[in-house]
Amino acid sequence: MAIADKNGLILESNLRFNELMQALSGSGNAPSPSYLSIRETLRFANFFSRLTSGTVNQVEFEAPFHDSQNVLHWFRIYAWVIAANPDAQLPLRGPFIGFTMHDQTKERQEGERLQEDKEVAERAMEAKSQFLANISHEIRTPIQTIIGMTELLQDTELDREQAEYSRQVKFAAEVLLSLINDILDFSKIEAGKMELEYTDFKLEQTIEQAVELIALEAHKKGLEIVLDISAELDTTVRGDPDKFRQIVINLVKNAVKFTREGSVTISARLTDFEGKEAVAVAVADTGIGIPEESRNHLFTTFFQADPSNTRHFGGTGLGLAISRNLVELMGGRIEMVPREGGGSVFRFSIPIQRTASPGEPVPPGRQILDKRILLVDDREESRLIINAYLNDIGYQNTAMAASGQEALALLQTAVREKNPYGLCLIDMIMPQMDGWRLAAEINRDTAINDTRLILMVPHGLLGAEAKMTLLRWFNAYINKPIKRHDLAAIMAQTFSEPPVDLEAAQEQEGISLSEKVQSGEIFREMAGPEAPLPSVPLPATNTGKPLVLIAEDHPVNQKLLMMILEKLGYGFIPADDGLDALNKAGSFPVDLVFMDIQMPRMNGYEAAQKLREQRFTKPIIAVTASVLPDEGAQCLKSGINDILLKPFKRSDIEGLLRKWLPSPENDDPAPGPSQSPGRGLLARASLHAPQPDAAVLSPSPPPEAPERRGPPPEIGRDQPGPVLGVPPVSPPLPVPGATPAVVVSRGVKRAAPVRVMPVKISGAAPAVPAAPVSLTPEPAVFNHRDLLDTFLNEVEIIKPLLHRFLERTAGQIDELPGLAERGAWEEGRRIVHTIRGSALTLSGRELGQAAERLERAYKAMNRDEITGCLPLFREAFIRFKAAAETFPED
Ligand code: ADP
Repeated sequence: MAIADKNGLILESNLRFNELMQALSGSGNAPSPSYLSIRETLRFANFFSRLTSGTVNQVEFEAPFHDSQNVLHWFRIYAWVIAANPDAQLPLRGPFIGFTMHDQTKERQEGERLQEDKEVAERAMEAKSQFLANISHEIRTPIQTIIGMTELLQDTELDREQAEYSRQVKFAAEVLLSLINDILDFSKIEAGKMELEYTDFKLEQTIEQAVELIALEAHKKGLEIVLDISAELDTTVRGDPDKFRQIVINLVKNAVKFTREGSVTISARLTDFEGKEAVAVAVADTGIGIPEESRNHLFTTFFQADPSNTRHFGGTGLGLAISRNLVELMGGRIEMVPREGGGSVFRFSIPIQRTASPGEPVPPGRQILDKRILLVDDREESRLIINAYLNDIGYQNTAMAASGQEALALLQTAVREKNPYGLCLIDMIMPQMDGWRLAAEINRDTAINDTRLILMVPHGLLGAEAKMTLLRWFNAYINKPIKRHDLAAIMAQTFSEPPVDLEAAQEQEGISLSEKVQSGEIFREMAGPEAPLPSVPLPATNTGKPLVLIAEDHPVNQKLLMMILEKLGYGFIPADDGLDALNKAGSFPVDLVFMDIQMPRMNGYEAAQKLREQRFTKPIIAVTASVLPDEGAQCLKSGINDILLKPFKRSDIEGLLRKWLPSPENDDPAPGPSQSPGRGLLARASLHAPQPDAAVLSPSPPPEAPERRGPPPEIGRDQPGPVLGVPPVSPPLPVPGATPAVVVSRGVKRAAPVRVMPVKISGAAPAVPAAPVSLTPEPAVFNHRDLLDTFLNEVEIIKPLLHRFLERTAGQIDELPGLAERGAWEEGRRIVHTIRGSALTLSGRELGQAAERLERAYKAMNRDEITGCLPLFREAFIRFKAAAETFPED
């Protein structure tokens, strides 16, 4: 600190000041303006004169000083006027200037360095964002070209294999495009370049559209999607619909992604946000939830709560950060709260600018509104929301039922009270009695079947429409999640149409539908010969199991497939031939088909091809005993995705189901063939298909093969690898609960304690030769252990199968010479083919091989050859029979 006179001459200074001046001047001299640059000297002089003239009382400024070594120092100078004292002696009269100097050099240098660093960082960030934006644009353009060109390519004549490859190219390009779009959005946001567009859009519809985009995926996962949009959102607002939609999509997508079972509910209301009218959207799921410690970081870029989950579910960690930025750009706020009972709720509010007054729900005609409506849905939340929608629309006279049984009781009571329901809205997926079953019950009860029926079907569920057309059990159907406008329209339309005349719905055979329903025949048709009839208590079959259609005419193989599927927890419907398979696939929500190739009436190739023509998109797996090169190509041509070689075992089926469907028990990652190329049966078949002579897929194992079922090594049968065959258009996820009316759930008894009880064989079987009947028969003739293994130790199932096979085959063997005589080659070949398939499944390798030779002879229409083979075949059968009679003794 120092005191100077009005001329700037320092009169007094403290020790620190002197030390400082010394350090600056390199001597003991007082500071001099010469340490200052000219500009600073002028500034000094200026401050000084303002102080001494009394313009200001104090000043504070920073000034640079160069020391004697010309090193720059910065000082903060504070100067003030010490007023004149007129009573004091002259030299002490004043006024004086007091000032302090603080060395700021270090702080200043630090500040400058920070500033420089900041500028460098900002420039780098700007360059990075710019780079990302540029590169994203650069990548987007060629990807869009790939998509566009692939679409053009798909419009040209492509064979099935080419069409599939192009579909995969397009799919991959679309995934890449959405990734790049996220990165582009993110880089735009980071660079502060994300701008909003302003246009008029409908709030309710925009939310519905966003949800609809993901509903299909959700339903395939077995999740219920519930829309709960209040009627006041039926209004037009001004804003950026695309970005608004993007936020909703991001949240709903995540909710579906991170939820294994249960539901995702999207609700939207008008609200107040910081004094402004706003829309509040909440997406609530019953998923894995988010741990508390992760919640704070959720909306930051690249954050993923659980990397192991990310590996499972995929994703980039950008979606929520982008959503937050978009919401904030629109002046709103987004947050996450845990959902009661598990799961998460993501909710955001955005101020809105209305451009139209709230639209009134359009009420249908007056008489319609008076009708009584019954709503049947097992999920309480859905029930309440749909009921509220009905009330909004104008139907005030509504009642709700939580099950089919409750609905039937309500309908009957209403009729008794002479106040029947005009319309019944029925959920398709319900436990115990599903929508189809309930409709059947209503339709067959003449007291209540005047009620109009609307089926509520999960969006995109294949087959519902076809089935409706086929059965005419409903007046109309509506997709879930239900949209208010759709509901209003479908209700009005249903009421305006004349009631369905059930008797007019004639089936092709001329039997009326109601007769079929009355007699229960329809259920047999639906579920196969052993299905329970509706008159017996309905089985609780709606367990959300994927449904497998078994098109197989061999009783042995059909039974085996059914048994294995049942053990693995899948639902199934048997079909006895290709035509039957075609009907059933059109009628039920089938998730996968096992298609035997050789079947009467319509073979497997033809049935598969017809299914594909009917836009059946689920996996079809051929079941065949031999895959010759041309058969592989034929499979591909027919739209078959994979091949199951006979004889098969549980592990073969399990592998295929795992490959093409998610397990019914656990929530496996998305099913369908994995993407790595070329390791499956059909992949090989397809690669080699153009060379008809190439022995790509060898027929059943050669006689010397040591293992009964060992596949040729190049087939890679046990590898769970993908097949570049014809994967389904949409991934074949299960539709839980979609199958109850049709799942044949036959109770398979556990194996009884093994008793030695030879199978009794009746019929005209040839006499058993003198060959000794061993209790441990030669495995090639009859492999006892293998048979038990194949049929999962179900002795009680094997015994009747063996019995029937022996009985039937004995009769057929007697027929065979006559068929050759008459030249009925095809009939003979078919019989022998069936015997061969069954024999192999029943662990009779020798008989299977003998049948194979005979089959070839029939195919070649070679009478001599047949005559030569027949005795060997007969002997093989006799040996098999003798050995099989010892079963189940080992
Ligand atoms: P991404 O889903 O691509 O990983 P997001 O930014 O959309 O990126 O989400 C970030 C993370 O937040 C996710 O990886 C997940 O851990 C968590 N998350 C988001 N939504 C949910 C949800 N509905 N349930 C559970 N976790 C969620």
